[in-house]
Amino acid sequence: MSKARFNALRETLNRKPLKIDPVARRSDIFRQKVFDRQSMQNYLDKNAYKAVMEAIDKGKKIDRQIADNIAAGMKNWAIANGATHYTHWFQPLTGATAEKHDSFFELAPDGTVLEKFSGSQLVQQEPDASSFPNGGIRNTFEARGYTAWDPSSPAFIYGTALCIPTVFVSYTGEALDIKTPLLRSLHILDKAATAVSRYFHRDVNKVIATLGWEQEYFLIDDALYKSRPDLVMTGRTLMGHPPARGQQLDDHYFGSIPERVMAFMRDLEIESLKLGIPVKTRHNEVAPNQFELAPVFEEANLSVDHNSLLMDIMTKIARKHHFEVLLHEKPFAGINGSGKHNNWSLMTNTGINLLSPGKTPMKNLEFLVFFVNTIKAVNDNEALLRAAIASAGNDHRLGANEAPPAIISIFIGAQLTRVLNELKNVSNGKLSPQEKTDLKLNVVGKIPEILLDNTDRNRTSPFAFTGNRFEFRAVGSSANTGNPMTVLNMIVAKQLMDFKQKVDTIIAQEKLKKDEAIFNVLREYIKDSKRILFEGDGYGKAWEKEAAKRGLSNAKTTPDALKVYKTKEAQSIFNETGVLSPRELEAKYEVELEQYVMKVLIEAGVLADMTMNHVVPAALKYQQELVKTLKGLKDIDEKNFKKLAKEPLIILEQLSETTNKVSDLVRKLRKDIAQLDNKDLETKAERLAHYIKPQFDKIRACTDRLEMMIDDEIWPLTKYREMLFIR
Ligand code: ADP
Ligand code: MG
Repeated sequence: MSKARFNALRETLNRKPLKIDPVARRSDIFRQKVFDRQSMQNYLDKNAYKAVMEAIDKGKKIDRQIADNIAAGMKNWAIANGATHYTHWFQPLTGATAEKHDSFFELAPDGTVLEKFSGSQLVQQEPDASSFPNGGIRNTFEARGYTAWDPSSPAFIYGTALCIPTVFVSYTGEALDIKTPLLRSLHILDKAATAVSRYFHRDVNKVIATLGWEQEYFLIDDALYKSRPDLVMTGRTLMGHPPARGQQLDDHYFGSIPERVMAFMRDLEIESLKLGIPVKTRHNEVAPNQFELAPVFEEANLSVDHNSLLMDIMTKIARKHHFEVLLHEKPFAGINGSGKHNNWSLMTNTGINLLSPGKTPMKNLEFLVFFVNTIKAVNDNEALLRAAIASAGNDHRLGANEAPPAIISIFIGAQLTRVLNELKNVSNGKLSPQEKTDLKLNVVGKIPEILLDNTDRNRTSPFAFTGNRFEFRAVGSSANTGNPMTVLNMIVAKQLMDFKQKVDTIIAQEKLKKDEAIFNVLREYIKDSKRILFEGDGYGKAWEKEAAKRGLSNAKTTPDALKVYKTKEAQSIFNETGVLSPRELEAKYEVELEQYVMKVLIEAGVLADMTMNHVVPAALKYQQELVKTLKGLKDIDEKNFKKLAKEPLIILEQLSETTNKVSDLVRKLRKDIAQLDNKDLETKAERLAHYIKPQFDKIRACTDRLEMMIDDEIWPLTKYREMLFIR
């Protein structure tokens, strides 16, 4: 056994759960470190408070003088709560979070100490961010990016830093981050959904998107983590033989949560609550060492920030407990991967969930309008939604027969399928009084408030209606949810605008009543969207065939999925809705493709090195031992040698064959990689996805075979069964 593996295993023997002080009441700590409405009231004067509220509720700009006021109040609150620095916290296109800390304290020329934090430092800051990927936008304009405060997400204290959520834009105002397009999509969605909801409620003047994510993750002991170069460098294991029975191992083996994990979870919960993340932890374990955490849903922009923040907090708190969090979509082959379900809905400022059926036919008609429009939006833009969840990591889940497939489809359940079928038969044009009554009583009036078959059925659907919201399940665990949410908001906004226009035209031109016009448009939408609805098994091969017939896309790799960004249709919907200009979309495409290329190249390098530096030397060592054994046997009894040496000879033959084969494969891989050097980005991505990455599997098949053959005492790498066990 290598020293690294031995030491790592020994280290885990001494693990003890950390003591976490219990918290009496969660409400006592909730938002303790957030500059929320309560703290604002305490620290801001009337005008400043009002300005922030108007910025949040109505998107009003804050003028400079008031910004100074707000900054002063925010600084006082932050210092009173232990902050020494401030930072603009933002989410660059790579999806991670970034921050640059500046101290509040400045030394005046005369040596006196000042505490400085002005309005301009709050509202606008130029981070030295020349290394953040931005798809060439900034270079062309020779201007630096700057960050600007997003008042709709409150400031918070993280460690000793006051963190100010910000957008990150170029000098010319182009989006260099994930939040800017998200905010734009929420804005256009608000406008479109408000206009439509006014068909039903005159008093609605704002609609927000709500998001509740469910974060899946793995935990692994940090000593074991560090003993695996592949985990450290790439976030996933590039080799390793899955344990014989994987996640089907005995219930009691993985059934109860180890105390160390419980302590970590409690700590994480407390820290999250202090930062205003309304977690209600659940710990289901689909796979060994896999857990899930879900908060109560919130306004989508805030919820996206909270998810980004949570991924950061998790990692830090885990280290305190000698764990490493694995957010990768597929850290272990043969074992369930991790996703991040995005529960999404629309809510009016009057508190109505627009995707929830209700008690009256009117409420249900409203529900149907938003329900059908969402379905139509997804139908028309399925390829865009697929692109929005594309990443090197998620490629291992989608279509891998265990996660939602790479094909986007919608599950709505039997009850709603029946309702849509009825609506498909509504007459063209004017409805007879009899038909109207019928619709009211037997169709719209019959949608129950609680849809029994919609809560948890069909886990194989990537996009499911779950009673009062849609659940986008194909999102990867490490993803910044801002990306898929932006696309979903945008396509639904565009769809609702088209719908409104159509209904209004019909009312004006055909002299139909509002309800009649709505029924007429919905009928056509339902017919148009037939192909996206699928109630069957999404994991099966049969669905892949059927989906192809229906003309649904099935992009299995990130480069294939991202291609849609280059189409005229994609450019036009992003542009028309104001979410991304063609240049910004191009930048997004480039950055995401670059990320993919970078990740796969790193994996290739690590795989090659581990094979040649760890696996092959171990194989040679074992070979040497076998040779020694064989020589010994020959010395003892030359006549019976063949008989005596049967087993070592078989092993030696297989071992040598596999070792030679894997060495050849690595040489080929290295050569193929070297040839990518002078290729352009798209060619690189294409080759990596379709030519290089398939070689990983061939190499892995060999190394995993060697792992099974070679003496455990010699094997250098921590094994799956060792990593997947927490003591
Ligand atoms: P599951 O059956 O998927 O485990 P839960 O009831 O635990 O469902 O909810 C999952 C997530 O859905 C939670 O984060 C919850 O807050 C969220 N959710 C519930 N209602 C809505 C809504 N109207 N909009 C957005 N998210 C919602
Ligand atoms: Mg769920």
